[in-house]
Amino acid sequence: MNRSTERRLRVAIAGFKLESVTFLPNLTTLADFQAVECSGADLIDAHRGTNTPVGGFIAVCDREGIDMLPIVYTEAGAAGPSSDEAFEHYLGHMLSALSGEKIDGVLLDLHGAMTTPTRFDADADILAAVRQQVGAQTRIMVALDYHANLDENTIRDADAAFGYHFSPHTDQGETGERTANCMVRTLRGEINPVWALIKPGLMVPSIFSATNLEPLASVVQNSIVRARNSERYLDVSVFAGFSYADVPNCGFSVLAVTDGDREMAKRIASEFSDIIRTSRAAFSHRGLLYGIDDGIAEACRIAAHSDRPVVLLEHADRMVDSTYVLRAVIERRLGRTAVPFLWDPEAAAAGMKAGVGAQVQLSVGGHSSERAGGPVMVDGRVVFAGPKSFHATGPYYTGRLVDLGDVVVIDTGFMVISITTRPSVAVSEDCFIQFGMQASDFDYILLRSKTHFRAAYEPIVAGIVIIDTPDWGPADLTTLNFVHAPSDHTYPFTDAA
Ligand SMILES: [Zn+2]
Repeated sequence: MNRSTERRLRVAIAGFKLESVTFLPNLTTLADFQAVECSGADLIDAHRGTNTPVGGFIAVCDREGIDMLPIVYTEAGAAGPSSDEAFEHYLGHMLSALSGEKIDGVLLDLHGAMTTPTRFDADADILAAVRQQVGAQTRIMVALDYHANLDENTIRDADAAFGYHFSPHTDQGETGERTANCMVRTLRGEINPVWALIKPGLMVPSIFSATNLEPLASVVQNSIVRARNSERYLDVSVFAGFSYADVPNCGFSVLAVTDGDREMAKRIASEFSDIIRTSRAAFSHRGLLYGIDDGIAEACRIAAHSDRPVVLLEHADRMVDSTYVLRAVIERRLGRTAVPFLWDPEAAAAGMKAGVGAQVQLSVGGHSSERAGGPVMVDGRVVFAGPKSFHATGPYYTGRLVDLGDVVVIDTGFMVISITTRPSVAVSEDCFIQFGMQASDFDYILLRSKTHFRAAYEPIVAGIVIIDTPDWGPADLTTLNFVHAPSDHTYPFTDAA
């Protein structure tokens, strides 16, 4: 058949993403989402060529000659639950844009761990509403984050779903391509996807969800190899879940998508789920954790034997403003220390007002909740003050626009700290490059990422010291007051693990 005489296929593209930390007191508002929103043709321009799920959708559509209906994209990282107002706004936007359009499929980029004050599983509600809008005949496929909290109901209205394989999420674009390839093959009648999802009953803190840690590394690698070597269409996603969301479907899940064989999907998802459940004790790595004092001592020990910087990782920080390790760094004056991307709009405004060259004393950080550590005094000279946005380099979400708002960089003599107006986690070397510095200028680098920084930093640092502090993302999940997470069949980590 001559393809040029066929009607061209047309798919809608939308993304609405949030990793809800339900323990945080503040909601993520409509204004927070609107600050990074893009829609229509801008959505395509912002994502084409980027290592993001939507970038992957676009790459496949471009390659396969599929027409796109770009709707809206926004995200807010990991933060408090979405306000109901923001949720209804973006869902309404998607539904009205789909209304009356002739489309064959919908490609969605969702996180899978979004909540609102009235919804435990906002992603399920998005999929259900989109399904109702487009009807049973239109295919809906979704790319999800590896930290999605899923059960069968979450993706009930999707024809197929796909998760990142890795954390750091270096395969976001590839995940978008897996999703869009399945869509294209389905619309061309080559395959008829069905799926099965199984939960092993296991929760891990994000710090232990890194896919370079065993036994997780082997489970993930084997799932990829299993799909690759399958003679029939097969895709397997292992999801670690997001344990800082107190929701009924919290924790790991395994999802298999096959061509029309639900039993095969169930068998393969069960196989990997069983491995996770039976080896669950090995998913704890408490030996990798340090307190503040012993962590700093360990960092000094590593630094003494290397010219490379040492990462001090304040992983429990959930709002990019924890001050426990910052306070210790200031008290001890360790050596030349970089503190990239501390979120504090008020301190940034005060630094902007003082201007470059001014000597300032600023109270910074620790504002986001009573567990963030409280503000600390930073005394130094302003060496940069101004707005800053850039396209990310490095292996994680390459090419994506990062907009920090106004940024103030202060040099105290022993420490260089950058204070941002918008929250953004430093995961690449951009936090140095953008301000005329390099990571190698420093003896210590204080970071707040959980796993994503590893792709850029592991090759260039002498060591990574994980310091467990009492903010809202602790390694010991038993310090959080779970009410809705199913404690009877999940397995929060305790000292007994
Ligand atoms: Zn994630």
